Amino acid sequence: MALEPITEMLQKAKKGHYAVPQFNVWNLEWIKTVLSTCEEIQTPLILGVSVNGSAYMGGYKNVVSMVKNLMESMEIAIPVAIHLDHATKVEDCFKAIDAGFTSVMIDASKEVFEINLEKTKKVVQYAHEKGASVESELGRVGGQEDFIVAESAYAIPEECAQMVKETGIDALAPALGSVHGIYHGEPKLGFKQMKEIAELTNAPLVLHGGSGIPDEELKKAIACGTCKINVNTDCLIAFGNLMRPYLIEHPNELDIRKIMNSGVPGIAKVIKDRCMVFGSIGKAKE
Ligand SMILES: [Zn+2]
Repeated sequence: MALEPITEMLQKAKKGHYAVPQFNVWNLEWIKTVLSTCEEIQTPLILGVSVNGSAYMGGYKNVVSMVKNLMESMEIAIPVAIHLDHATKVEDCFKAIDAGFTSVMIDASKEVFEINLEKTKKVVQYAHEKGASVESELGRVGGQEDFIVAESAYAIPEECAQMVKETGIDALAPALGSVHGIYHGEPKLGFKQMKEIAELTNAPLVLHGGSGIPDEELKKAIACGTCKINVNTDCLIAFGNLMRPYLIEHPNELDIRKIMNSGVPGIAKVIKDRCMVFGSIGKAKE
């Protein structure tokens, strides 16, 4: 199956009451592991790549080439989207789309609503002309991700409705108490607002900061209209937890493949575990 935007996979998830996972990827091993594990469990997949993550991997074009070539050589047949995560600049969205990203997130949530709306409109117009999809954010997801630090702020339902209606975005990320990185204390998600926003907008909702939220709350979020859940920190923790002891226990190991792959089973385990909770296993061909 070719790469595709997130639009159809999220509409199917909305109808089927499950959530499509977004797993962020950081290097060759990460992409290989996410692709092979998601193929194994037959889940639709959104590969999240941040602006800085793309630069680290040699730029947008290189990311697209790596994913495309790996999908071919690994015979990946599940639906896959390459999604630019948290781009604050309109130009970055344009560049990623031109390079072959099938989806982008314009995150102008730090701007006043009118500017967020304008920036999102520009990106949607460009993206839809080229067959790519767009996610935008309202309110603010707290915590830190990829050097971006933010205070939490809840999305306002009326603004969400206006955003969806005027821009035609494919997915909406209303910040409702989730945070990037590690939670300090119990997360307090605004389920009442989530349900209200889902009903007002009729748009597939996205939950950022999906790591560290109890499974029951994730299921509740899906029941309240969440169709895409972003997971990054859980994979990073699992990878590091395996690689650190491996390096200590194998001080003379020189084979870079063995070193790089020592953390990989941790990523695969998180993927299987999360997709079970999200209900996306086996949904690739539906
Ligand atoms: Zn996020």
